[in-house]
Amino acid sequence: MRDLLTHFLNSIRLKRQHIVLLLLVSFALVVMAVMAVVLTALQTVAVTANALDESRSRQAVSGALSTLKSQMISTMVDYTAWDAAAEAVYSPESKDWVLENFDLANGASEIFDAAYLLGPDGGVLMAFRRGEPFSMRPAEFLSPAFDGMAKAVRRAGVEKGAEAAGFVKTAEGVAIVGVSNIRGLSPDVVVPKDRLQQLVFIRHLDQGRIDSIAENYLITGLRLVDAASVPPGAALVRDPAGRVIAGLTWTAQAPGDISYHRVRPYVLAAMTIVGVFVFLLVLAGSIVIGKLRGDEIAARKMALTDRLSGLGNRLGLFTRLQEMIGQAAGTRDDVMLFYLDMDGFKEVNDVYGHATGDRLIKSVAGGLTHLIPEGAILARLGGDEFAIALPVKHGTRPARSLEVLIQDFFTEPFVLGERVVTVGVSVGTALSPLGSIDAEELLRRADIAMYKAKADGRGRAIAYDAEMDAALAERKSMEAALRAGLRNNEFFVVYQPVVDAKTQRIAGLEALLRWNSRQMGAVSPEIFIPLAESSGLIDKLGMFVMGEALRVIRKWPQIGISINVSPAQFRNPFFIPGVTRLLSESGVSPQSVTLEVTEGYFIHNPGHACGMIDALNGLGLRIALDDFGAGFSSIGYLRQFAFDRLKLDRSMIGALEETPRGREMLQATLALAAALGIPVTAEGIETEEQAIFLRLCGCDQLQGYFFSRPVGEADLPALLGEYAAPGTVSLPA
Ligand code: C2E
Ligand code: CA
Ligand code: CA
Repeated sequence: MRDLLTHFLNSIRLKRQHIVLLLLVSFALVVMAVMAVVLTALQTVAVTANALDESRSRQAVSGALSTLKSQMISTMVDYTAWDAAAEAVYSPESKDWVLENFDLANGASEIFDAAYLLGPDGGVLMAFRRGEPFSMRPAEFLSPAFDGMAKAVRRAGVEKGAEAAGFVKTAEGVAIVGVSNIRGLSPDVVVPKDRLQQLVFIRHLDQGRIDSIAENYLITGLRLVDAASVPPGAALVRDPAGRVIAGLTWTAQAPGDISYHRVRPYVLAAMTIVGVFVFLLVLAGSIVIGKLRGDEIAARKMALTDRLSGLGNRLGLFTRLQEMIGQAAGTRDDVMLFYLDMDGFKEVNDVYGHATGDRLIKSVAGGLTHLIPEGAILARLGGDEFAIALPVKHGTRPARSLEVLIQDFFTEPFVLGERVVTVGVSVGTALSPLGSIDAEELLRRADIAMYKAKADGRGRAIAYDAEMDAALAERKSMEAALRAGLRNNEFFVVYQPVVDAKTQRIAGLEALLRWNSRQMGAVSPEIFIPLAESSGLIDKLGMFVMGEALRVIRKWPQIGISINVSPAQFRNPFFIPGVTRLLSESGVSPQSVTLEVTEGYFIHNPGHACGMIDALNGLGLRIALDDFGAGFSSIGYLRQFAFDRLKLDRSMIGALEETPRGREMLQATLALAAALGIPVTAEGIETEEQAIFLRLCGCDQLQGYFFSRPVGEADLPALLGEYAAPGTVSLPA
């Protein structure tokens, strides 16, 4: 399901990347479509304009042809329906009159280029061609269509239809031919039917005539073409019999084409401008979107990255770990998580400063990056905590070697500029078999395991197991019980005498806290003190012990009182004021009060510890270093901090019998204390031999079950005597 979702999201992301391309392509298509529509419209306009022009031209040409015909007819009427002419031609001596008035011999006539005067039977009376007498008969010179026309005219006599004109094929080409009966206009002039004469004018459609037509009617390229080769669309020239004898063609002006070709570049330019504009718009948009996306990605990455180390941070690890677990569930693998916490990082930070601490973090981050196998995730969870996650084959544990590698890596000292520091690492591991444990739970488990590694003495790797949860739950319920115990007064203080080694008289008491829990019965301070420290309840408990101890010791002013103070109390800013108040309320002399502190605090916070000791010394209190010999036992800070007393740890006393080295160590330690002039108390004395030996070694005070177990307040009078004076305790034999 999760896979499907990721896949879906990825595919959406892919589409988003392609959307710009899609936009570009679709805009280009739109621009092209608009261009095509506009050009098609323009073309339609052009075609229509062309067609209109074509039909106008055709009309003009056919108009010109019929005008030619009607002009010829009216010319014929002018010449032949004429009284004088009729009188002249039908008289015997007509030849001269005819020549003169019909001007037949005129070679430059505008009206005709050939002419006939035909007799009643159609016989030629006179014939001229371009001013010269002409011997070809009409039947030879003209096509038969003429004959039909001439005969029809002749039949009309002087009536209507006594003249006609038409296009006729001649031996020379195509001509407009007019034929008319010569007759009078007035009724006085009588034309005998059997003597009827006809005048024939022939005017060839030569190029000159065609050109003048073209000029008059604004038609370019007008040409006469042979009947055989008349193209479609040409104007047809028909003879009186209706036969096509020629055609007239012209050059199409195609004004639409002209306009179209003139306009097209502008349209294309406009479209190109629009196209470029849109392209730039989309491009700019895509750049902006790309930049925004880039910013978004960078911001996302920033949020998931630890700035100091450059590794992923907790959130980054969480996101990637979830992915890895999801994938492992699909491939049926396990995911292993390593939770690393450096040992001693705080000290490096405290002693050398934060700059060195930061360099150490970077150095560790760099080293771990090289250490981890391919496909593993490395992240810094904050502070000195790192995590490594990696998929492993189900059921196998090749990652075991990684734990070893990590430990090996930390055994080498880190060189940070001029400093060389050594730190360790505690590792908790947890497994998500087949991806069955989610990231949050896996992190929690590895974290718990890491705490266990720390508690078990650091510098080790521990794998999570369910019992750790139980331990954690128990700790939680113990904490609750501790709180309840504090409310219900389940705590009380017991007192263990401290004896003067020489006089064997009681020199002081150490106050020790006891808890008699209603639910659990007596709980050892070894258990509840750490719990009180980690839960913050130690402040209240500590003040309670101090209050009790001061109240009790008031009765025996000659006896000193030792009170244990936890390092956690030192961090509380209200500690000094609280001590001051309790001291003044009790009226106990501060000189008789010793605070016992352990060395851990001095190692971790030397600066702050110094200030605290000064403040406590200022109140007149004494400070003893407790549990000396149990931990680091550095001589350095013995000198650095002016302790008033040293308390040898029980373990050192216990070790006396076990090995000769224990004896040597103890003697060396005491010699050192003597050299520094610090008095020493030996605690945990359980036998007379130990008491004697330690007195001989130079311990001025002794404490242990051999002298007395811690006793309750009620038993103190018996121990110390009824009076406010130190009592004598006789050593058991
Ligand atoms: P500590 O300060 O070293 O206290 C001395 C411990 O040694 C006491 O254990 C005491 O009962 C035990 N002891 C004394 N003589 C002998 C002996 O001869 N043999 C053996 N085996 N043990 C002996 P206790 O009372 O159980 O306290 C344990 C630790 O709890 C203390 O160690 C101290 O660190 C802490 N603690 C006890 N009371 C307080 C308190 O009021 N405040 C703080 N902060 N810590 C306390
Ligand atoms: Ca103590
Ligand atoms: Ca101690």
